[in-house]
Amino acid sequence: MLELENICKVYQMGDTEVRALDGVSLTIREGEMVSLMGPSGSGKSTLMNIIGCLDQPSSGSYRLVGREVAELGEWDQARLRNQEIGFVFQSFNLLPNLTALQNVELPLIYAGMSTAERHGLARQALTRIGLEHRIHHKPRELSGGQQQRVAIARALVNQPKLLLADEPTGNLDSKASVEILAIFQELHRRGMTIVMVTHEPDIANYTQRILRFRDGKLVADESNHQIMIDREGWPA
Ligand code: ADP
Ligand code: MG
Repeated sequence: MLELENICKVYQMGDTEVRALDGVSLTIREGEMVSLMGPSGSGKSTLMNIIGCLDQPSSGSYRLVGREVAELGEWDQARLRNQEIGFVFQSFNLLPNLTALQNVELPLIYAGMSTAERHGLARQALTRIGLEHRIHHKPRELSGGQQQRVAIARALVNQPKLLLADEPTGNLDSKASVEILAIFQELHRRGMTIVMVTHEPDIANYTQRILRFRDGKLVADESNHQIMIDREGWPA
């Protein structure tokens, strides 16, 4: 699915350089579900932004679905990002004045579909995550867990191959976190590749692989035998 080789990212802050990523090499295969862990400032979000083609590395090579991202023009990078990648963030990033349905439709507006087609696909995506009864609600009328589910529906509406989630349960209580994780598990079961940043070992333990970062370096790549959770809560 993706391959990073010796990726470095340096931010220039006035006179000082911040080395956010320092020689990261890793491969993620299609269908894997992976957690990124590490202290605050260890470079996890920077790496997610590079993987998601939202940012460019300072040096190193990044191949996504067989293509060297740096060799693509801006237009092709945007197309790759829109077609192949879904993003979920800690803060949901929903537009407050749009309904759930309208938020989920947003990524389809650029695909040149009819309004009816867009409605249909957005409604389907919301139904799949159990929010068919909330489609005309605005974000403020939804719980945090429901808002994050809308954000997941929006991330999936284009049927991407890769789902990137940066601390998706960081603003949620443990019950809502379990629901989000159960959705990820179900997506994973159906073959989706998922890369998720989390601070919580309990959450990371439900992924098959854990990558640990420190000071911009990948310091451990651990495989984890996979445990499935049900929607009722953590298994015993
Ligand atoms: P994490 O997500 O693991 O907390 P980040 O990737 O956000 O870490 O940050 C890694 C390092 O890069 C930190 O030292 C952070 O301050 C720095 N950094 C991140 N984004 C920027 C930026 N846009 N400009 C300057 N420094 C940044
Ligand atoms: Mg971060």
